Amino acid sequence: MPPGPYLPARPFRPHRRRRPRPRPRPRREDPMRSALALLATLAVLLTAAATPSRAPGPQADPVRTPAAPVYTVRLTGDSAGTGWHGHESVRFTNASAEPLREVYLRLWDNAHGGCPASPITVHGLTGGTPDAPSVGCTALRVALPSPLGRGASGVIGFDLGIRVPSGADRFGHDGRYSFLGNALPVLAVRDAAGWHLDPYTDNGESFYSQAADFAVTLDHPSDLLVPATGSSHDTPGSAGRTVTTAVASKVRDFAWAAGPFAKISATSHAGVRVSVYSAAGVGPSDARSMLELATSAIDAHARRFGAYPYGELAAVLDDDFWFSGMEYPGFVLDRVSTSALVHELAHQWWYGIVGDDEYNDPWLDEAFSDYATDLALGRLGEGCWNAVSWTSADERLTGSMRYWDAHPTRYGTVVYDYGKCALHDLRRLIGDTAMAALLRDYARDHWYGVSTTAEFKSAARAAAGTDLTGFWELHRIDG
Ligand SMILES: [Zn+2]
Repeated sequence: MPPGPYLPARPFRPHRRRRPRPRPRPRREDPMRSALALLATLAVLLTAAATPSRAPGPQADPVRTPAAPVYTVRLTGDSAGTGWHGHESVRFTNASAEPLREVYLRLWDNAHGGCPASPITVHGLTGGTPDAPSVGCTALRVALPSPLGRGASGVIGFDLGIRVPSGADRFGHDGRYSFLGNALPVLAVRDAAGWHLDPYTDNGESFYSQAADFAVTLDHPSDLLVPATGSSHDTPGSAGRTVTTAVASKVRDFAWAAGPFAKISATSHAGVRVSVYSAAGVGPSDARSMLELATSAIDAHARRFGAYPYGELAAVLDDDFWFSGMEYPGFVLDRVSTSALVHELAHQWWYGIVGDDEYNDPWLDEAFSDYATDLALGRLGEGCWNAVSWTSADERLTGSMRYWDAHPTRYGTVVYDYGKCALHDLRRLIGDTAMAALLRDYARDHWYGVSTTAEFKSAARAAAGTDLTGFWELHRIDG
C-alpha cells in the first residue's frame, strides 16, 4: 500500500520505517477498464470482509500448525532478473490434535500492484483445491483432499510466476538491481487464535511463519549475482547462465536479490561468513566499513543471544531504499547506516531464530532488536524513558499493526524508541547480569520457536524474582 502523507520526524531511521517516496503517477485508463477494476476491487473487499483475519475454531488448539514445512523451489530468471517462473512445492505436517482440513498460502507480494494484476501468480496447483485468493490476493486457501490427523503430512505444489515491480523496495527493482523479499509463497500459521490471515502492511511487517527448510534453485544470467538466504553454490547452466542452489534450514522465509552487485566477503571471529553486496552508488570504502561492522555485530549479538546458526549472511546495500533496512533470515537489505545494519542483524535472533507474530506483536522483534542494537553500540538508554509522552490511553507499547496502521506517525516512536527504553528500564530494575541471562535463556528456550508477550513477561518475572505488575503497567506492556 502507498505510504501516508506525513514525513518522519527524523530523516533517517535505523529500521524499516516509512520514508517519503514518490507516489506512483496514476495511469490513464478508459472508463470501461476503470469500472471493471472497481468491480474487481469491490469483489476483493467483499471476499476479505467475509474472511475473518483470524477465524477462531470452536476448540482452537494452541499448537501452531502446519509444522516443519519443507519448501522445494526451482525458478528461472529472465535477462533482467525481474521476471521469474518455475515451480514450488511444500511438504508440511499437522502438529495439532485438531484435523488439518486446509492450508493457506500467503502471497504477500500481491500487496504490490494489488488485485487482480498480481505480481505473484500461482497455477496448476496439485495436492489440494484452491479457492479464489482473498485478503487483497495475499492469501490463498487450499482445501486438502482429506483431513490430516496429528502427525500426518501433506504436499502441495504449483507453478509460480513472479514479476518484480519497479521501486527500491523489499520487493522491487532499482534499475538493474532486483530485491525479492517475501516473493515465495509461504504457509500461514493456525494457532489458538485460528488462521492468521492479517493484511500486508507497508509500515512494518505482517509476517508470521514457522521455521522451515528451503531448497531453492535459481537459474539466472551469469552477469547477475544472486545473494540469498542460506548457503549457496553455483554450477554452470546453459550458455551465459548460472544455476545457484541455495539451501537453508530452520528459517522462516527465503529472500534473494539479483543484480550486477559488487561483492566482498569476510569471516567473523566466530566463523560466520559475511558477504556485502553493493548496488551502484555504494562506494568501496562504505562497503568495506559495513562488512567490518557486520562481522563484529553478528558476533556481538551471538555472544548475547546464542551462536548464529546459519553459517552465512548476506548484507545487500542500496542507498536508494525508501526504508533504512529490512530483515530476512541470513539476508538483510540496508542503506549504508551503522545503526540500521546492526539492527537488521539483531533481527536474525529477534524475528528469525526467535520468531513472533509480527502483525500482532511487533514490539517483540522491533523493540528487542533496537535494544540489542543499543547494547552492541555501547548505548545504555540513560534517561530515555523520561522522554515518553503518550498521545492516548489506547496507545500501548504492545499495540498491533492494525493500531499502528491507523496511527503510523506513532509506530516508530512507541514500538522502537519506547520499546527499547522499556527493556533498558527492565535491565536497570533487575540488574545487568539478570537481564543478560534472561535474554540469553529466553532465546535458548524459544530457539526456532515463537515468542509471545505473555511468555516473555513470565520469563522476566522469574528472572526478577519479584512481581513486575507495576512495571508492565507503567510501560504499557499488555498481554
Ligand atoms: Zn526492525
